[in-house]
Amino acid sequence: MKLAGRIALVTGGSRGIGRGIVEVLAEEGADVAVNYVSNLAQAEEVAEWVRAHGRRAITVQGDVSKRADVEAMIDKTWAELGPIDLLVNNAGIETIVPFLELTDDQWTRLNDVNLRGPWLCSQVYCRRAIAEKKKGAIVHIGSIQAAKVLPGRTHYAPTKLGLEALAKNMSAEVAPSGIRVNTVHPGYFETDMTVWIKDVPGATEMVLGQISLARSGECRELGRAVAFFGSDEASYITGQSIHVDGGWAGK
Ligand code: NAP
Repeated sequence: MKLAGRIALVTGGSRGIGRGIVEVLAEEGADVAVNYVSNLAQAEEVAEWVRAHGRRAITVQGDVSKRADVEAMIDKTWAELGPIDLLVNNAGIETIVPFLELTDDQWTRLNDVNLRGPWLCSQVYCRRAIAEKKKGAIVHIGSIQAAKVLPGRTHYAPTKLGLEALAKNMSAEVAPSGIRVNTVHPGYFETDMTVWIKDVPGATEMVLGQISLARSGECRELGRAVAFFGSDEASYITGQSIHVDGGWAGK
């Protein structure tokens, strides 16, 4: 097991890709704090899955864009599970709005959750880890849209490409403290975020037609890349990014 005895916090771990990440981390031996913003029942279900598989798990409510919430999330995880070894910045939102129609509020909310959130969670985590001389790792969850243009994402795509820049710049500053920072970019995964695609005639075929492996990803396939970056197997890798997308970005 890659993560035996490690402690992880996964933001947005209550469903979708976040749940897949939580499950793989637990199978690799980690105890996991499952963050959610509103869906306690689903977060508890994920935590129960972890416990049923022999690891400790807690749920931690909090909006990643609010400093007080983030501080409370990190404090609760540290107090109840122990010092965090791996922070996964997975929580994110997506709206699809044409550039010319986008409002200030839409731009601000999306940037607050998708870019400021990972920055904030990382800063609160790193301050605590460095103060306690605790080494660790951070993985940001970006998007295929860091590499490919899809309509209506002029607010979303920059947040995901921005995570790469955040990881590169952060990694240089926190490397002396033994903290690595990398980014995993998902392609197409069937979750609540992408469920609408199935309702649009021809959309699924259009998306799968761009993916070399011609299928959507399993959330746990994404989780395996996160587990790698979070483990000692990636001990000499920081400031990097990888697409887990069946070959979409490279096509
Ligand atoms: P999802 O099914 O919509 O789940 C989103 C998760 O994020 C939920 O756990 C939700 O919590 C949490 N969340 C939302 N806003 C939050 C906030 N302000 N603070 C804390 N938690 C918050 O999304 P997904 O498809 O699994 O996507 C996960 C990540 O992968 C996102 O960053 C997304 O941009 C990225 N991504 C997804 C795809 C894809 O194909 N699905 C592709 C590229 C990138 P609640 O359950 O409490 O609402």
